Amino acid sequence: MKFPPPSTIGVLGGGQLGRMLALEARRAGHRVAIFTDEAQGCPAGQFADLEINAAYSDTSALNNFLQQVDVVTAEFENIPASCLAAVEAVKPLRPGSRALITTQHREREKNFLRDQGIACAPFRVIDDLPGLESAVAELGRPCVIKTAAFGYDGKGQCKVTADTDLAEAWSSFTGQRAVVEQWVTFDCEVSVVGARSIDGSMATHGCVENQHTHHILDVTIAPARVDPKITEQAIALWQAVAEGLDYVGTMAVEMFVTTAGKVIVNEIAPRPHNSGHYTIDACRTNQFQQQHRAVCGLPLGDASQHTPAVMVNLLGDVWPAPLVHPDWSPVLNHPRAKLHLYGKHQARPRRKMGHFTVLGATIDQALQDALAIRAALGIG
Ligand code: AMP
Repeated sequence: MKFPPPSTIGVLGGGQLGRMLALEARRAGHRVAIFTDEAQGCPAGQFADLEINAAYSDTSALNNFLQQVDVVTAEFENIPASCLAAVEAVKPLRPGSRALITTQHREREKNFLRDQGIACAPFRVIDDLPGLESAVAELGRPCVIKTAAFGYDGKGQCKVTADTDLAEAWSSFTGQRAVVEQWVTFDCEVSVVGARSIDGSMATHGCVENQHTHHILDVTIAPARVDPKITEQAIALWQAVAEGLDYVGTMAVEMFVTTAGKVIVNEIAPRPHNSGHYTIDACRTNQFQQQHRAVCGLPLGDASQHTPAVMVNLLGDVWPAPLVHPDWSPVLNHPRAKLHLYGKHQARPRRKMGHFTVLGATIDQALQDALAIRAALGIG
């Protein structure tokens, strides 16, 4: 079903991804309603027609929201299944609950990849210390323990190296299910962001290279400086995931390019992704415009990139104090740099507060300028 303007898009979640979707949707004449458990005035709420602030378990608030929207999407994946079911019972939910429920939980995500025959690191699912011991014996060291539920940006992870004591490593996971993954030696990390529409057509923005610091995305280089065969493999993996999930909307797949030259999936994000923020300034149709089109049942746009670009994340660490912005002149003075701030009231270390994108005639030029701006802002 199609929802042309001025239909109302309901968004579960109130963060920066919902904010950037709201900007695109409202520009195109749609109405946007946000449902979030954050306080009034959240990043997405600042650009929405309506903001409802309540717990995802608050059925009367959710029903009130559902009466005011035509179609619903989510800007983050950790939404309780009961809430997704309540939404799907009365309004189209895009992507659907199966895609969200599969990707919000590492065990289900890994099992999905294995069942579809999509390349990923060998893994075992465990729920106690003996399980960890046999998983480590089978997979070898190094490996990494990751909580099955609600882990992101390296949270809930523990690397097991040659001298790690397993009982000690397990102590922070006691009582939880976890996935143990073989350690991957990689040349680089890449991701593909793209969208799939209700008729099954797909468009990706290409393959980009991601550099992480403390497990959090730091820099995205677009396009990735990899062999075209790597890009081809990465896009084919994205398509296999999108089709396997019968996905509708914008989705990201994070991948490793192994030292053996193979591309394997690390993680799926059932929503726009930080590594796709460069598309706002460097692609003909950006990842939020594609999400807006797919969710509303409209045809996808041309996702191709028109200019090489580098995106740098701005974490709360750059703020001199929680309420004091840094001097933005290094970004604002550059003719091909674009500053994006997310309207978060208080900065905290490691909190994603914004990003900037630098366009260049070449990828080397964009990278050089982005790193110079990054250094001038005092990012180490
Ligand atoms: P994740 O939260 O699973 O995306 O992990 C965060 C980061 O940890 C990844 O971007 C990698 O840099 C690193 N990492 C996670 N899993 C592995 C692995 N199996 N082998 C090597 N590095 C990993």
